[in-house]
Amino acid sequence: MKYQTLKGLQDILPPDISVWHHIEAAARKIFKSYGFHEIRLPIMESTDVFIRSIGETSDIVEKEMYTFEDKGKRSVTLRPEGTAAFVRAYVQHHLYNNPSPQKYYYMGPMFRYERPQAFRYRQFYQIGAEAMGIEDPKLDAEIISMLSNILSSIGLEGLNFEVTSIGCKSCRPDHKKALKDFLGKKLDNFCSDCKRRYDVNPLRILDCKVPACIESRKGSPAVLDHLCSECSDHFNKLTHYLELLKVPHTVNPNLVRGLDYYTKTAFEVSSKNLGSQSAVAAGGRYDSMVKEFGGPPTAGIGFAIGMERIVPLIKDAIAATEGPDLMICPLNDAAAEKGFQLTEQLRSEGLWVEINHEITSLKSQMRKANRIGAQYSVVLGEDEIKSNSAVIKNMTEKEETSTTLDFKDFLRIIRSHS
Ligand code: ATP
Ligand code: MG
Repeated sequence: MKYQTLKGLQDILPPDISVWHHIEAAARKIFKSYGFHEIRLPIMESTDVFIRSIGETSDIVEKEMYTFEDKGKRSVTLRPEGTAAFVRAYVQHHLYNNPSPQKYYYMGPMFRYERPQAFRYRQFYQIGAEAMGIEDPKLDAEIISMLSNILSSIGLEGLNFEVTSIGCKSCRPDHKKALKDFLGKKLDNFCSDCKRRYDVNPLRILDCKVPACIESRKGSPAVLDHLCSECSDHFNKLTHYLELLKVPHTVNPNLVRGLDYYTKTAFEVSSKNLGSQSAVAAGGRYDSMVKEFGGPPTAGIGFAIGMERIVPLIKDAIAATEGPDLMICPLNDAAAEKGFQLTEQLRSEGLWVEINHEITSLKSQMRKANRIGAQYSVVLGEDEIKSNSAVIKNMTEKEETSTTLDFKDFLRIIRSHS
């Protein structure tokens, strides 16, 4: 074959697309009830937007960004995630001047140059949400509850919600010291990347996917055990509110995030049915990012759901192939013209109607009606045009109903069965 999608990219075609629509519609409905507004942001930003926020020593910035120079010699990057770009927009448009919390959501593609494998792509889609301007842990609980509602309204079951706190600037030095003491003793067992991380950002070692590193870091001190009183209070309240709202969750002190901007609350949702790429959604607080982007100190919290990881989980339940409401099968030119009029009249009433523009045999037209999954079919030939009547056939129940050729009669018959 001459041309193929690039490695790690995929085409999303019908009928799969109906699963995507189902997910997007369910998410939009829940977002509305929580007062979240949609925003659409560009898919590229100045490279700095991501380096500054995600962190120079993160895997994303070190290895995974699609960065290139545009014709004006600017360094631009295809967004690897949504939050940094969102905060750029939040500051640029002074959205902090509006009443808090400001609540936004987005849906769209992200790009990471990763090793493609099942459920891991180089272009993948996220549904993301961000809520700004409230430090209270009730907001964290609300966001996690909203995420849980979105995932269950989509039809996902058996998910594991893990929460933790990764502290703030004042608790991290204490944890970092304990971590370095622990890891320093067995640094030889770690990969070369981790040896380097040990000096620049030892926290990143906790996120390394190399099996030997996973094994060697077992038992390392968790941030959760080194929280300052403010972070610890925030975390205790969060788990209390999650219990109050009956959001099932487990505390995982070893949960780490691959992005440097998180503070306090971090969470991840995983499924047992996805093998090693088990995370379906993840998020957390980022209370210092707005200030770092030049805005006033403003708290923020958000999450992102990975579409390619949830589509396969519900695909079989949703992917009932859709077909037209009616297929019109004309057998001669006069019938084709009458059928053409009927088609447009019924479409303007919202029905999905197909007509054969090429007049073929009755048998082949009926075969096609079956193949495309039409709910009803009607054959128009010489007799039907002469008598101004026809027979509408229900393709699944094989039931037949006589009608005039007035589109309103068609409409009544088709609607009465659906
Ligand atoms: P992972 O540990 O699987 O690499 P991550 O921590 O890098 O995930 P986040 O940056 O938190 O992921 O993104 C949120 C969600 O986006 C993930 O939970 C996952 O569902 C999805 N996601 C991330 N990277 C990819 C990818 N390369 N392909 C498909 N989905 C992805
Ligand atoms: Mg990743």
